[in-house]
Amino acid sequence: RHERIHTRKSSYIMTLKDCCEDDDLVNLETLDEDIITDQLQKRYADLQIYTYVGDILIALNPFQNLSMYSPKFSKMYHGVKRSSNPPHIFATADAAYQGMVTFSKDQCIIISGESGAGKTESAHLIVQHLTFLGKANNRTLREKILQLNPLVEAFGNACTVINDNSSRFGKYLEMKFTPTGAVMGAKISEYLLEKSRVIRQATGEKNFHIFYYTYAGLYHQKKLDEHRLPEKQPPRYIDDENGKVIQDIITNKSYREQFEAIQHCFRIIGFSEEEVNSVYRILSGILNTGNIEFTAISSQHQTDKSEVPDAQALENAAALLKIGAEEFQEALTSHCVVTRGETIIRTNTVDKAAVVRDAMSKALYGRLFSWIVNRINTLLQPDKNICNAESGMNVGILDIFGFENFKKNSFEQLCINIANEQIQFYFNQHIFALEQIEYQNEGIDAKLVEYEDNRPILDMFLQKPMGLLSLLDEESRFPQATDQTLVDKCEDNLRYKYFWRPKRLEQCFGIQHYAGKVLYDANGFLEKNRDTLPADVVVVLRTSEDKLLQQLFTSPLTKTGNLAQSRARVTAASRSLPPQLSAGWIKVDTMEVMRHPEETTNMKRQTVASYFRYSLMDLLSKMVIGQPHFVRCIKPNDNREALKFSKERVMVQLRYTGILETVNIRRQGYSHRILFEEFVKRYYYLSFKAHQIPPMTKESCIIILEKARLEKWVLGKTKVFLKYYHVEQLNLLLREVI
Ligand code: ADP
Ligand code: MG
Repeated sequence: RHERIHTRKSSYIMTLKDCCEDDDLVNLETLDEDIITDQLQKRYADLQIYTYVGDILIALNPFQNLSMYSPKFSKMYHGVKRSSNPPHIFATADAAYQGMVTFSKDQCIIISGESGAGKTESAHLIVQHLTFLGKANNRTLREKILQLNPLVEAFGNACTVINDNSSRFGKYLEMKFTPTGAVMGAKISEYLLEKSRVIRQATGEKNFHIFYYTYAGLYHQKKLDEHRLPEKQPPRYIDDENGKVIQDIITNKSYREQFEAIQHCFRIIGFSEEEVNSVYRILSGILNTGNIEFTAISSQHQTDKSEVPDAQALENAAALLKIGAEEFQEALTSHCVVTRGETIIRTNTVDKAAVVRDAMSKALYGRLFSWIVNRINTLLQPDKNICNAESGMNVGILDIFGFENFKKNSFEQLCINIANEQIQFYFNQHIFALEQIEYQNEGIDAKLVEYEDNRPILDMFLQKPMGLLSLLDEESRFPQATDQTLVDKCEDNLRYKYFWRPKRLEQCFGIQHYAGKVLYDANGFLEKNRDTLPADVVVVLRTSEDKLLQQLFTSPLTKTGNLAQSRARVTAASRSLPPQLSAGWIKVDTMEVMRHPEETTNMKRQTVASYFRYSLMDLLSKMVIGQPHFVRCIKPNDNREALKFSKERVMVQLRYTGILETVNIRRQGYSHRILFEEFVKRYYYLSFKAHQIPPMTKESCIIILEKARLEKWVLGKTKVFLKYYHVEQLNLLLREVI
């Protein structure tokens, strides 16, 4: 997939020699929005899709295959000074890798941008280059790591109106290395899978890729019958209502090839045949579950009872999921209530039964996805003897949905946008606030740059007990609450200028996000947040004779890893931050033990919001201990057209991502600050003999810096302040000496 074909006589190679000034916008004399956009446009016309802003990389989506990702380019971007080559995503990967190897410090690459801007492609390219740099001792491991993205994406990506391969989950991929820099393993954390897509898709959109791949693959293997999948009438969950769909799917060559590719991924990574067969059975089971219909029956005593008129789909699903058809039907059409020690069986209405059916499909898929991710993590776990978790030899890559603002915005958009507020906060904190605070503390005279601090908005969402998410949880626990009372409650309690309630839209509320105003429709919020699966269904699924399925509903999946570890990470991280920043929401006490909703039987049910809050905290804890690298992906037009550059669209995205402010601060700023002692330890070889360790003082630092012939560095009270190019220069010199 990454083999790029030669589409145009590459102007890339020709410009290699004369790397120009505008490779880095920080070098430009005057800078404003117009100038930046013009520069990007000019470069885009030359297929220079990458541009630096200091050490941030801007990546414009080329919407065509470029011949600049071959092994030749990997070699070219290996351990050289950044300015010797044009900007490139490989250079960012290389900087992270070199930073990790040189200082044994964790690195994290944060990729942001709106849907279709190129985040996932960039993440792939980074993995590709890191795998090249961290030459795995055995080929198998390298292959495993390269297969991991396609596998997870088959289950987590789908075709949307914006992007044919849109990620419907957030992903943090950690690559782990030995102390000498050989790749050793990997670990994925997933966030907010859009489970609702399993049961319903918007017009012009599709279900998760894997359903289509499986259909085409099983057809080709003549296994549709065995999986109870029809050749004519499409299952409801993948029916796009034009009737032709099944023919389109089973004859689609690309789907069939993808199926083969996924089979290959499973095998290479190390899934057993039994496991893989279970996966396809469960997927077919989900499709059959979606076809179960209910009708109302009324008897003398009960008027709200439902039954399954045509047992075929029910029996199909039960057979695939290896559960009893009768018990299955019971669990869908009725539920147990325990009152005063007595168990009463209540019937479900037709609507309720359909809701239970769909909730089950979503839960099945969601857990299957988490299981696959967990299984990959186990199979790619590095040998503990060679490389431990706290070694500082990790590179993390974050690829998560960008800010969303649609005509209609729901709970999903709220979660995504909160995650983006969080990432923006981290970005600001890193780029702006930390720098400014440190200048002051170190007595350095550098002009302060104004920036929009979004912490109050984050507080509004995350604070306990009065933040929006807490209010939402509180209402979700109230049986009488409605989406309407939720909005009322928010209006009463959220006294922030970022929250407002439009007069004529009863169930709506608006939020002023850092990236713009968004109007949310609260309809369905409580239900989505509760995300409950009736105990009756869980009980039946636990009786499954399928080992994998049974496991999905018995052992609690620890999605975000070790709680104690995250807690320790956050504590350590908040200690190293200045007090102004570690206060507020980065508090360890907001972390709770997380369980899946059905595992908790008491009143305090685990909700989507509280799980989400925890995931964010966990993610942040990983990010703050690492040295960050930012990649800002930008979509030059909305038509996926090569070489078309819409100035307005680009400008909006530059504004969202704070690029302009970044340019200012980078020009004036020092991206690296190193304690005198640390600096001397790292670089004394440059001016002293190896056995002659000089005193760890300011004076020694000056000697080293002057010997290296660097200019424009600054010394504070305890630290050396360097520009990013100084560090490059020093590391390069160091490599020559060692
Ligand atoms: P996002 O993850 O931000 O939603 P993707 O990474 O899926 O976006 O990119 C959307 C599409 O844009 C890809 O499927 C691909 O066609 C194109 N694209 C993105 N980046 C590149 C690139 N570097 N080279 C070629 N095509 C790209
Ligand atoms: Mg994506």
